[in-house]
Amino acid sequence: MAPNMPSLTTDPRAADALSRVRVLYTDLDGTLVAKGGSVLADASAAPSLVVAEQIVELNRAGLKVVPISGRGRIQLRELTQLLGWDGYIAEAGGIIVHGTGLDFSDRVDLGEWPDDAIPEGVTPFEAINDVRAAETLMEAFPGRIEHYAPWQLDREVSLLLRGCLDTAEGQAVLDALPLPLDLVDNGMLRSYGTLTCRDMPPHAYHVVPRGVSKARAIELDLAWRGLARDQAAAIGDSATDLQMADAVGVMALVANAFGSNGVTSGLAGTPRDNVWRTEGERTEGWAEFARAWLAAAR
Ligand SMILES: [Mg+2]
Repeated sequence: MAPNMPSLTTDPRAADALSRVRVLYTDLDGTLVAKGGSVLADASAAPSLVVAEQIVELNRAGLKVVPISGRGRIQLRELTQLLGWDGYIAEAGGIIVHGTGLDFSDRVDLGEWPDDAIPEGVTPFEAINDVRAAETLMEAFPGRIEHYAPWQLDREVSLLLRGCLDTAEGQAVLDALPLPLDLVDNGMLRSYGTLTCRDMPPHAYHVVPRGVSKARAIELDLAWRGLARDQAAAIGDSATDLQMADAVGVMALVANAFGSNGVTSGLAGTPRDNVWRTEGERTEGWAEFARAWLAAAR
């Protein structure tokens, strides 16, 4: 659960910090969208305008909303355009894009890799596959990790996997490969797919060039936009989302985040004074953030 974490709606410090916010980086799965992926649903996935109404209000009020997700570029471009936004961050921080039409600018982040880490014409995704990162994890943890089909396709920077792993143990396996890679926990999933583990809920994982993260992508994007850290907020539900707290003034965790092991251990490991919780889960927590920002901005 959420030990002593102040509420975004009732803490006066949150209102003060929100009043400076001009851009919101929002996670999608488990945060902006309900179970099953709909934005037109309440926290229990029943049809609802709870989030849609607040998206319209934020668009009217001029808050920039930037989806930041493990999803790939094609998925995010469509969603961003549908919701009336104009930029997004894909593949867990690996791809930063401004603009959704034919006229767009993008940056691919290689994290700590030197510019010449991979040959011309080879994508980071292909380089990660060339060192057999997914196969090596599957051999080390049989039945506990697999490709997260069909979303593992059309990727450029990161692998997308589904599994039940201790991230430190998975990271140790990756560390033996001849390319510096990070294993990133991107939160709980509903389906085990063909996994045989049942001792923990299935999670989505990314394998990314070392250093690539949502937090680093936000820092790069804020510099690109000419905004300061305290002009940014982020909202999410997973361990990798919590790290966005290092790059923004206001970090909001939706209530369902506290069911995730990675989030509770992340909170215990690094005390932070800029993290708030919402009372609501998923879409309802997102709408709560929007109402709190609108109230603070007035
Ligand atoms: Mg999520």
